[in-house]
Amino acid sequence: MTKMSGVASVPGGPGIAVLLYHRVVPAVRDDLFSLEVGEENFREQMRWLRSRYPVLPLDRALEDLESGTLPERHVVALSFDDGYRDNLTRALPILKELDLPATLFLSTGYLGSGRPFWWDRLDRSETPAAPPGARPEDDPYRRAKALELRDRERWLEELGRPARPFSRDDLPLDSGEIPLLAGSFVLGGHGHDHVSLGLVPAEVACADVEACARTLERECGARPLLFAYPFGGPEDLSPDAVDAVRRSGFTTAFTTVPGVVRRGADPLRLPRIWVHDGPAGTLATALLRTFWTVR
Ligand SMILES: [Zn+2]
Repeated sequence: MTKMSGVASVPGGPGIAVLLYHRVVPAVRDDLFSLEVGEENFREQMRWLRSRYPVLPLDRALEDLESGTLPERHVVALSFDDGYRDNLTRALPILKELDLPATLFLSTGYLGSGRPFWWDRLDRSETPAAPPGARPEDDPYRRAKALELRDRERWLEELGRPARPFSRDDLPLDSGEIPLLAGSFVLGGHGHDHVSLGLVPAEVACADVEACARTLERECGARPLLFAYPFGGPEDLSPDAVDAVRRSGFTTAFTTVPGVVRRGADPLRLPRIWVHDGPAGTLATALLRTFWTVR
Protein backbone atom coordinates (compact mmCIF):
# COMPACT_ATOMS: atom_id res chain seq x y z
CA MET A 1 0.00 0.00 0.00
CA THR A 2 1.28 3.45 -0.87
CA LYS A 3 0.63 6.59 1.09
CA MET A 4 -3.07 6.97 1.60
CA SER A 5 -4.34 9.91 -0.39
CA GLY A 6 -7.72 11.54 -0.61
CA VAL A 7 -9.68 13.43 1.96
CA ALA A 8 -8.05 14.81 5.06
CA SER A 9 -8.47 13.12 8.43
CA VAL A 10 -11.82 14.24 9.84
CA PRO A 11 -13.30 13.18 13.19
CA GLY A 12 -16.57 11.41 12.50
CA GLY A 13 -15.59 10.62 8.90
CA PRO A 14 -15.12 7.06 7.60
CA GLY A 15 -12.51 5.13 9.51
CA ILE A 16 -11.18 1.85 10.88
CA ALA A 17 -10.79 1.21 14.59
CA VAL A 18 -7.91 -1.23 14.85
CA LEU A 19 -8.24 -2.84 18.28
CA LEU A 20 -5.11 -4.00 20.07
CA TYR A 21 -5.13 -7.07 22.32
CA HIS A 22 -2.25 -9.01 23.84
CA ARG A 23 -3.56 -11.86 25.99
CA VAL A 24 -6.85 -13.65 26.69
CA VAL A 25 -6.72 -15.43 30.06
CA PRO A 26 -9.14 -17.39 32.27
CA ALA A 27 -8.82 -14.81 35.06
CA VAL A 28 -6.91 -11.51 35.09
CA ARG A 29 -4.45 -11.16 37.99
CA ASP A 30 -1.51 -8.87 38.81
CA ASP A 31 -1.58 -7.46 35.30
CA LEU A 32 1.07 -4.76 35.71
CA PHE A 33 1.16 -3.72 32.03
CA SER A 34 -2.58 -4.14 31.28
CA LEU A 35 -2.00 -6.86 28.70
CA GLU A 36 -4.72 -9.28 29.78
CA VAL A 37 -8.42 -9.52 28.99
CA GLY A 38 -10.49 -12.16 30.79
CA GLU A 39 -11.88 -14.91 28.58
CA GLU A 40 -15.54 -14.19 29.38
CA ASN A 41 -15.08 -10.46 28.89
CA PHE A 42 -13.34 -11.14 25.58
CA ARG A 43 -16.24 -13.31 24.42
CA GLU A 44 -18.72 -10.61 25.43
CA GLN A 45 -16.67 -7.91 23.68
CA MET A 46 -16.49 -9.98 20.48
CA ARG A 47 -20.23 -10.72 20.50
CA TRP A 48 -21.02 -7.05 20.97
CA LEU A 49 -18.60 -5.97 18.25
CA ARG A 50 -20.08 -8.44 15.80
CA SER A 51 -23.59 -7.17 16.47
CA ARG A 52 -22.60 -3.53 16.06
CA TYR A 53 -19.82 -3.13 13.46
CA PRO A 54 -18.46 -4.88 10.40
CA VAL A 55 -15.28 -6.64 11.67
CA LEU A 56 -12.98 -6.94 8.66
CA PRO A 57 -9.55 -8.48 8.01
CA LEU A 58 -7.07 -5.65 8.49
CA ASP A 59 -5.67 -5.66 4.94
CA ARG A 60 -9.14 -5.64 3.39
CA ALA A 61 -10.33 -2.83 5.65
CA LEU A 62 -7.32 -0.71 4.60
CA GLU A 63 -7.99 -1.39 0.90
CA ASP A 64 -11.67 -0.53 1.28
CA LEU A 65 -10.83 2.69 3.12
CA GLU A 66 -8.42 3.74 0.39
CA SER A 67 -10.88 2.95 -2.42
CA GLY A 68 -13.84 4.54 -0.61
CA THR A 69 -15.74 1.24 -0.40
CA LEU A 70 -15.96 0.62 3.35
CA PRO A 71 -19.25 -1.24 3.98
CA GLU A 72 -20.16 1.25 6.71
CA ARG A 73 -18.81 4.58 7.92
CA HIS A 74 -17.10 2.89 10.86
CA VAL A 75 -15.54 -0.57 10.75
CA VAL A 76 -13.37 -2.53 13.18
CA ALA A 77 -10.30 -4.75 12.72
CA LEU A 78 -8.74 -6.93 15.43
CA SER A 79 -5.05 -7.23 16.19
CA PHE A 80 -2.97 -9.08 18.79
CA ASP A 81 0.65 -8.26 19.64
CA ASP A 82 3.59 -10.44 20.74
CA GLY A 83 2.42 -14.03 20.12
CA TYR A 84 1.37 -15.46 23.48
CA ARG A 85 0.24 -19.08 23.38
CA ASP A 86 -3.15 -18.14 24.84
CA ASN A 87 -3.95 -16.49 21.51
CA LEU A 88 -4.18 -20.04 20.20
CA THR A 89 -5.79 -21.73 23.20
CA ARG A 90 -8.16 -18.97 24.46
CA ALA A 91 -8.72 -16.33 21.75
CA LEU A 92 -8.82 -18.55 18.66
CA PRO A 93 -11.82 -20.73 19.71
CA ILE A 94 -13.89 -17.58 20.35
CA LEU A 95 -12.82 -15.95 17.08
CA LYS A 96 -13.67 -19.17 15.23
CA GLU A 97 -17.03 -19.54 16.96
CA LEU A 98 -18.01 -16.00 15.95
CA ASP A 99 -16.22 -16.10 12.58
CA LEU A 100 -14.08 -13.03 13.30
CA PRO A 101 -10.74 -12.38 11.52
CA ALA A 102 -7.66 -11.01 13.31
CA THR A 103 -4.03 -10.11 12.69
CA LEU A 104 -1.31 -11.46 14.98
CA PHE A 105 1.84 -9.34 15.14
CA LEU A 106 4.59 -11.78 16.15
CA SER A 107 7.79 -11.03 17.99
CA THR A 108 9.63 -13.66 15.98
CA GLY A 109 12.71 -14.14 18.18
CA TYR A 110 10.48 -15.51 20.94
CA LEU A 111 8.63 -17.94 18.69
CA GLY A 112 9.38 -21.47 19.91
CA SER A 113 12.03 -20.18 22.32
CA GLY A 114 10.36 -21.50 25.48
CA ARG A 115 11.49 -18.25 27.14
CA PRO A 116 8.96 -15.91 28.75
CA PHE A 117 8.69 -12.44 27.25
CA TRP A 118 11.23 -10.29 29.05
CA TRP A 119 8.71 -7.89 30.65
CA ASP A 120 6.91 -10.85 32.23
CA ARG A 121 10.22 -12.12 33.57
CA LEU A 122 10.87 -8.67 35.04
CA ASP A 123 7.36 -8.46 36.44
CA ARG A 124 7.73 -11.79 38.28
CA SER A 125 11.24 -11.30 39.61
CA GLU A 126 11.72 -11.65 43.36
CA THR A 127 14.84 -9.54 43.46
CA PRO A 128 14.50 -6.48 41.23
CA ALA A 129 17.89 -5.45 39.83
CA ALA A 130 18.60 -2.30 37.84
CA PRO A 131 19.32 -3.00 34.17
CA PRO A 132 22.90 -2.38 32.98
CA GLY A 133 23.63 1.27 32.33
CA ALA A 134 20.65 2.47 34.39
CA ARG A 135 21.04 5.52 36.61
CA PRO A 136 19.14 5.67 39.92
CA GLU A 137 16.63 8.11 38.43
CA ASP A 138 15.87 5.86 35.43
CA ASP A 139 12.67 3.90 35.01
CA PRO A 140 14.01 0.28 34.82
CA TYR A 141 11.35 -0.71 32.29
CA ARG A 142 12.23 2.15 29.95
CA ARG A 143 15.93 1.38 30.26
CA ALA A 144 15.31 -2.33 29.63
CA LYS A 145 13.44 -1.77 26.39
CA ALA A 146 16.53 -0.09 24.90
CA LEU A 147 18.84 -3.02 25.80
CA GLU A 148 20.17 -5.22 23.06
CA LEU A 149 19.41 -8.92 23.38
CA ARG A 150 22.72 -10.11 24.88
CA ASP A 151 22.76 -7.44 27.59
CA ARG A 152 19.13 -8.03 28.39
CA GLU A 153 19.49 -11.81 28.69
CA ARG A 154 22.51 -11.44 30.99
CA TRP A 155 20.57 -9.05 33.17
CA LEU A 156 17.49 -11.31 33.29
CA GLU A 157 19.68 -14.18 34.50
CA GLU A 158 20.66 -12.03 37.47
CA LEU A 159 17.03 -11.69 38.50
CA GLY A 160 16.94 -15.21 39.94
CA ARG A 161 13.89 -17.44 40.09
CA PRO A 162 10.49 -15.98 39.15
CA ALA A 163 8.19 -15.37 42.12
CA ARG A 164 5.32 -17.09 40.29
CA PRO A 165 5.97 -19.92 37.80
CA PHE A 166 5.05 -19.53 34.15
CA SER A 167 2.30 -21.71 32.72
CA ARG A 168 2.52 -22.91 29.13
CA ASP A 169 -0.03 -20.28 28.08
CA ASP A 170 2.11 -17.51 29.63
CA LEU A 171 4.87 -18.30 27.12
CA PRO A 172 5.24 -17.56 23.38
CA LEU A 173 3.75 -19.79 20.71
CA ASP A 174 5.75 -22.67 19.30
CA SER A 175 6.71 -22.61 15.66
CA GLY A 176 4.76 -25.84 15.06
CA GLU A 177 1.59 -24.14 16.32
CA ILE A 178 1.60 -21.43 13.63
CA PRO A 179 -0.35 -23.52 11.07
CA LEU A 180 -3.13 -23.97 13.66
CA LEU A 181 -3.82 -20.21 13.52
CA ALA A 182 -4.66 -20.28 9.80
CA GLY A 183 -8.19 -19.29 8.89
CA SER A 184 -8.59 -16.86 11.79
CA PHE A 185 -5.23 -15.10 12.07
CA VAL A 186 -3.06 -13.39 9.45
CA LEU A 187 0.52 -12.87 10.65
CA GLY A 188 2.41 -9.60 10.75
CA GLY A 189 5.79 -8.52 12.17
CA HIS A 190 6.42 -7.17 15.66
CA GLY A 191 10.23 -7.08 15.63
CA HIS A 192 12.50 -10.02 16.43
CA ASP A 193 13.76 -9.40 19.99
CA HIS A 194 11.06 -6.93 21.06
CA VAL A 195 13.40 -3.98 21.53
CA SER A 196 12.33 -0.38 21.15
CA LEU A 197 13.34 0.30 17.54
CA GLY A 198 13.47 4.01 18.31
CA LEU A 199 15.85 3.65 21.28
CA VAL A 200 18.44 1.19 19.91
CA PRO A 201 21.11 2.21 17.34
CA ALA A 202 19.81 2.42 13.76
CA GLU A 203 21.84 -0.61 12.60
CA VAL A 204 20.41 -2.73 15.44
CA ALA A 205 16.88 -1.66 14.48
CA CYS A 206 17.53 -2.58 10.82
CA ALA A 207 18.91 -6.02 11.70
CA ASP A 208 16.03 -6.72 14.09
CA VAL A 209 13.30 -5.81 11.58
CA GLU A 210 14.98 -7.79 8.81
CA ALA A 211 15.32 -10.88 11.05
CA CYS A 212 11.61 -10.56 11.82
CA ALA A 213 10.66 -10.32 8.12
CA ARG A 214 12.84 -13.32 7.22
CA THR A 215 11.46 -15.49 10.01
CA LEU A 216 7.89 -14.73 8.95
CA GLU A 217 8.75 -15.38 5.32
CA ARG A 218 10.11 -18.80 6.34
CA GLU A 219 7.04 -19.58 8.47
CA CYS A 220 4.40 -18.31 6.02
CA GLY A 221 6.05 -18.67 2.62
CA ALA A 222 5.64 -14.99 1.74
CA ARG A 223 7.26 -11.74 2.76
CA PRO A 224 4.99 -10.04 5.35
CA LEU A 225 3.49 -6.59 4.65
CA LEU A 226 1.99 -5.63 8.02
CA PHE A 227 4.05 -4.51 11.02
CA ALA A 228 3.39 -3.24 14.55
CA TYR A 229 6.17 -1.37 16.36
CA PRO A 230 7.18 -3.00 19.68
CA PHE A 231 5.87 -0.73 22.48
CA GLY A 232 4.56 1.55 19.72
CA GLY A 233 4.82 4.91 21.51
CA PRO A 234 6.28 8.09 19.98
CA GLU A 235 9.82 7.37 21.26
CA ASP A 236 9.72 3.84 19.81
CA LEU A 237 9.34 4.89 16.18
CA SER A 238 12.12 7.30 15.31
CA PRO A 239 12.60 8.21 11.62
CA ASP A 240 15.35 5.54 11.50
CA ALA A 241 12.96 2.94 12.91
CA VAL A 242 10.28 3.79 10.35
CA ASP A 243 12.91 3.61 7.62
CA ALA A 244 14.06 0.16 8.82
CA VAL A 245 10.48 -1.10 8.59
CA ARG A 246 10.02 0.32 5.08
CA ARG A 247 13.34 -1.11 3.87
CA SER A 248 12.41 -4.62 5.00
CA GLY A 249 9.37 -4.47 2.72
CA PHE A 250 6.59 -3.71 5.20
CA THR A 251 4.02 -1.39 3.62
CA THR A 252 1.78 -0.74 6.63
CA ALA A 253 2.82 -0.26 10.26
CA PHE A 254 0.89 0.37 13.46
CA THR A 255 1.71 2.26 16.63
CA THR A 256 -0.02 2.20 20.01
CA VAL A 257 -0.92 5.87 19.66
CA PRO A 258 -4.72 5.99 20.11
CA GLY A 259 -6.94 6.92 17.21
CA VAL A 260 -8.91 5.77 14.19
CA VAL A 261 -7.28 5.03 10.82
CA ARG A 262 -8.70 7.49 8.30
CA ARG A 263 -7.90 8.30 4.68
CA GLY A 264 -4.84 10.50 4.37
CA ALA A 265 -3.02 8.86 7.29
CA ASP A 266 0.67 7.93 7.02
CA PRO A 267 0.58 4.13 6.36
CA LEU A 268 3.75 3.59 8.42
CA ARG A 269 2.39 5.39 11.50
CA LEU A 270 -1.19 4.20 11.91
CA PRO A 271 -3.00 4.41 15.27
CA ARG A 272 -4.72 1.66 17.23
CA ILE A 273 -6.96 1.35 20.27
CA TRP A 274 -5.50 -0.59 23.22
CA VAL A 275 -8.30 -2.67 24.74
CA HIS A 276 -8.31 -3.21 28.51
CA ASP A 277 -10.10 -5.89 30.50
CA GLY A 278 -13.78 -5.19 31.04
CA PRO A 279 -17.26 -6.02 29.79
CA ALA A 280 -18.56 -4.97 26.37
CA GLY A 281 -19.74 -1.63 27.75
CA THR A 282 -16.15 -0.61 28.49
CA LEU A 283 -15.15 -1.31 24.91
CA ALA A 284 -18.26 0.42 23.56
CA THR A 285 -17.44 3.61 25.44
CA ALA A 286 -13.80 3.60 24.32
CA LEU A 287 -14.78 2.96 20.73
CA LEU A 288 -17.48 5.60 20.50
CA ARG A 289 -15.23 8.19 22.10
CA THR A 290 -12.44 7.39 19.66
CA PHE A 291 -14.62 7.32 16.56
CA TRP A 292 -16.14 10.69 17.31
CA THR A 293 -13.43 12.71 19.03
CA VAL A 294 -9.89 11.54 18.23
CA ARG A 295 -8.36 12.54 14.95
ZN1 LIG B 1 4.69 -6.13 22.06
